[in-house]
Amino acid sequence: MQIEINIKKIIILFLLTYLFSCFAPSLRNCLMKIVKSIKELKSILAAEREKGKQIGLVPTMGALHAGHISLVNRCAKENGICVVSDFVNPTQFNDKHDLETYPHTLDQDSALLEAAKCDILFAPSVEEMYPEPDTRTFSLGTVQEVMEGARRPGHFNGVCQIVSKLFYAVEPDNAYFGEKDFQQIAVIKAMVKQLGIKVKINPCPIVREADGLALSSRNSRLTPELRQKAPLIARTLKESRKFAPEKSVKEVKEYVINTLNACPEMRVEYYEIVDGNSLVSIDKWNDTDYPVGCITVFCGDVRLIDNIKY
Ligand code: AMP
Repeated sequence: MQIEINIKKIIILFLLTYLFSCFAPSLRNCLMKIVKSIKELKSILAAEREKGKQIGLVPTMGALHAGHISLVNRCAKENGICVVSDFVNPTQFNDKHDLETYPHTLDQDSALLEAAKCDILFAPSVEEMYPEPDTRTFSLGTVQEVMEGARRPGHFNGVCQIVSKLFYAVEPDNAYFGEKDFQQIAVIKAMVKQLGIKVKINPCPIVREADGLALSSRNSRLTPELRQKAPLIARTLKESRKFAPEKSVKEVKEYVINTLNACPEMRVEYYEIVDGNSLVSIDKWNDTDYPVGCITVFCGDVRLIDNIKY
């Protein structure tokens, strides 16, 4: 009799464990909501705002790494509700091949975001964000036209299209962007000012590998040989800072460009030292109190960007 009861208990326990393991993923989703529609997102956020919660947004294109997660951690810490958008925005790709080969890793991203205390993962479809073609053109002047703007026609226009749509959908108090895309921050600030959107733009420091290479989803495209060479970019920028005050702006630029181009696998597309706010190139160090060097380098056929504050 006693043995029979114990067997029953064991079977019930086994069934409960099995059921819990089946439902565990959806239980986790009770903590982090995955939202696909703007309508649902707006309604959830309206309720949270009603409770007095401040809302933070981290726009991403997925394929998340520790660089993105540093933004999410900060957003979660500084806001009552942390929203992360995960959307590969087609309108910002000037290279069709780049768009076609861009990684889509929603399941993996969602696990990382949950661990990072994201409250809402907004993962819309292209149709949801662009029910009809976005024909808006942004004219933001120098910040949009120089460096990346000159080499990637339409890129920043596409960035402004999607980020403005995200700002209208989320109406965040705070938005977080990585300084790795230094020019993007200046563009977003100019766009927000022009459209009169009330959101605080929070720049976040670049997260790097132990050897200095700035984390990027593109790093996975580097062959092992190129991956070994790539840290030379950050090393050279750091080295140039040591003698920046004594040497002229021109000499520092030449040093960086020549050092990197001396590596057969690398080709500098541009290296500009600019005022960190206006992005206007400087000739002399005292042209600005915020000099920033922005670089794009082809490492093999992988286009890598980085920057340094002098
Ligand atoms: P992406 O998904 O590449 O559009 O990037 C989403 C956000 O993450 C942007 O604001 C990027 O600047 C930021 N980000 C990407 N890589 C890094 C990094 N290594 N360190 C800090 N922020 C980063």
